[in-house]
Amino acid sequence: MPIYLPAPKAPAGGPDGKGWNRLSLNSHGGFPAQCALRPRRWGALLESHDTRRARWGGFGPCVNRGNCDDCPVRAALREQCTLVPVNAPRVLVRCEPVFASKALFGGPDGWRLWVTTGPDDQGYRERQKRPWSWEDATRVHGWDLGRPYLDEHGEGFWLERTTRIPAWGCAITTRTRPSSVRHAFRVSGTRVALLHHHGGCAHGEELLNAISHACPGPDGADENRVPVHWRQAAEMTPPAAGDLRFGVDVRTMSVKIVAVDGPRRELARLTLTGSGWTADRVRAAGEALRTYLDH
Ligand SMILES: [Zn+2]
Ligand SMILES: [Zn+2]
Ligand SMILES: [Zn+2]
Repeated sequence: MPIYLPAPKAPAGGPDGKGWNRLSLNSHGGFPAQCALRPRRWGALLESHDTRRARWGGFGPCVNRGNCDDCPVRAALREQCTLVPVNAPRVLVRCEPVFASKALFGGPDGWRLWVTTGPDDQGYRERQKRPWSWEDATRVHGWDLGRPYLDEHGEGFWLERTTRIPAWGCAITTRTRPSSVRHAFRVSGTRVALLHHHGGCAHGEELLNAISHACPGPDGADENRVPVHWRQAAEMTPPAAGDLRFGVDVRTMSVKIVAVDGPRRELARLTLTGSGWTADRVRAAGEALRTYLDH
C-alpha cells in the first residue's frame, strides 16, 4: 500500500483546485509530501481505505520523512479502533475546521469531527467528550463510508453501520451446552432477546450483530408486555428462504420466531421480550434470521 505521497513538481491547481498564488506558495514554504493515511476531506478518506487510489492533495503532511515502514500513523491504523458511540443504522459526521491563527491564507490549522445522529442533532457537542481527528475517522471499523454531506453549518459525511459490528449498547453473551447454544442480548443489563439453537454455531458473527441491530434501546428494555398483538403474527413472519421456513408466536410477554428446516426440524428459536419490540423491530429480527442463519 503506497502511503507516501510526494508533492508534484509543478502542481497545476492548488490543493483545493482553485490554483496556487505567490502568497499561498510563500506561506507554505513549498509543498510538503503527504501521508495517504491522514485524510483532510471526504474524498481523501475514501482513498485512504485503498491507498492505491490516493493522490497528493487532500491529505495531511507525512510525519515520518517518508519512512513508511515504522510510520506511527500506519501502526495506529493497525492497533487502534475508533468506536462509534451511537446505536443507529447511520450517523452523520460533521467536520469542523479549527483556525488557530487569523491568517487569511492557507487552510485550517486543525479539525474537529463530531458524530451526530443526523442533520437535526443539536446535542452532539455535549455528548461527545472528545471530538475525532481525521486520523480517528480512518480507524473506524464496521461502518462503511457513505456519501458526503453539506449544509449551512458546514461539511460532513455519512457512516453506514454494517453487520460486522454489534449495536452500540447491546451486550451479547454466549453459553455453549453439550448439544445447544444460547446467545443472550442485553440492553442496560436487561435481556431483550435470546437466540437458542441446537448443535454448534454454524452461523457467523453477522447473525448476532444483525439481531442486535434490531433490538430496542434502553427505553424498551424492560420486563413489560410486548406491544404487538397475535393478529400481527402473519405480517411479522419472514417469508420462506428456500427450505428455511418461519413461524411467529405472539404471547403476552414475548414474541417467538422459530426457524425450521424443510423436514420440520427446528433450527433456531429467537425469543424477544420487553415493551420495545414493535412490529418493525420484530420484522428486522426475523429478517436477520432469514439472511444470516446458516443451515
Ligand atoms: Zn509518511
Ligand atoms: Zn450460535
Ligand atoms: Zn436446509
